[in-house]
Amino acid sequence: MGDIQELKAEINRYKDLLSGALDIFNRTTIDDIMDATVRQISDHFMPSFIAFLWKPIPNRDEITIRGYRDYRTVDLGLKVHDIKAFEAFFQQYPQPINFELFSYELKNDEALKPFAKIKPEIIIPILGPFGLYGVILVGRKKDAAEYAPEELLFLEQLMAFVSQAIKNNLHYEHSLRDEKTGLFNHGFFLSRLNEEVARTRRGNYASSVIVMDVDKFKNFNDNYGHLAGDKVLECLALTIKQAVRLEDVPSRFGGEEFTVLLPEGDRDVAWDVAERLRINVAEMKVPWEPSLPQVTISLGLYTFDKESGVDAEEIIRRADEAMYLSKEKGRNCCTIWGVSKAEHPEHPGKFPPEKGA
Ligand code: GH3
Ligand code: MG
Ligand code: MG
Repeated sequence: MGDIQELKAEINRYKDLLSGALDIFNRTTIDDIMDATVRQISDHFMPSFIAFLWKPIPNRDEITIRGYRDYRTVDLGLKVHDIKAFEAFFQQYPQPINFELFSYELKNDEALKPFAKIKPEIIIPILGPFGLYGVILVGRKKDAAEYAPEELLFLEQLMAFVSQAIKNNLHYEHSLRDEKTGLFNHGFFLSRLNEEVARTRRGNYASSVIVMDVDKFKNFNDNYGHLAGDKVLECLALTIKQAVRLEDVPSRFGGEEFTVLLPEGDRDVAWDVAERLRINVAEMKVPWEPSLPQVTISLGLYTFDKESGVDAEEIIRRADEAMYLSKEKGRNCCTIWGVSKAEHPEHPGKFPPEKGA
């Protein structure tokens, strides 16, 4: 009889775990995965804190940290710049481990220093083909009691699903991005542009595409080297990201060319964004020794709506053509495809000379 009770309890435990795992796998963003994890754990017991540390770009060192106390996200005061020192250990021992034991085995006081204040109880690795993607830290139980063996087992089993879900999400996010700049890649840009063309055909609004290209960048590389050039592209990407809205799609077209899709951004909006981009880039400071000269960009933009009757390829071609007109006009300027001043008397002097002028 006792055996049957035990088996029933075991079955319930697995049912619980499975529904928790399903809940976690149904989340589509990392933040949602983490929120769901914290709720699942807190249904069983209440740790003093849970912290997620992960590398948003798997093969770069920078770490993002998200901490929780009770059900809420909080700043745990953790200052960790990288988790490189943990890599070799978890490659060899890819499992959750008691933090005290981990500290003893790691033998690296410097790497452990940032964790001294928060006193984690358990550390769980997130591992994948790019090595260590991050770690999850769970604090002591809030009521100060020790974790029971079945609680530790639950934590270990749930976290195996959590780290898998986080890893899948990171791979997905990574597949949409350009490695060097962290902006979206051209494939993702194209699929969003195709969606937007279909949407504008049904709606009553206009959307725009901006194409931009760094001026005389070959000379820049020749004079200051490719590494300095790469740093410029990195800063440029950040400047672009900061100049657009969350719903816009800033991406790297390839080489030193970038594109932005502005859903529901009409010509006035796109012109303002393009001018802001141009000015911000011309004023951009690139941290480099010795200091580098300012770089500039030339831009082209094209606005489409349901009357335009063009596909994604033609939209890009037109924005690109406008960008080449900016080059011809002397660079560091923006051109709107097919627009003449005469067509827009409401904007005297605002738009550049007509195409080909
Ligand atoms: P223009 O003003 O007409 O655009 O002149 P440009 O020199 O920028 O044009 P061109 O197409 O001749 O050269 C583009 C240069 O961009 C060549 C290449 O060295 C540089 N470039 C492309 N991709 C990268 C990159 O990822 N890193 C670095 N450092 N340079 C790149
Ligand atoms: Mg180019
Ligand atoms: Mg160029």
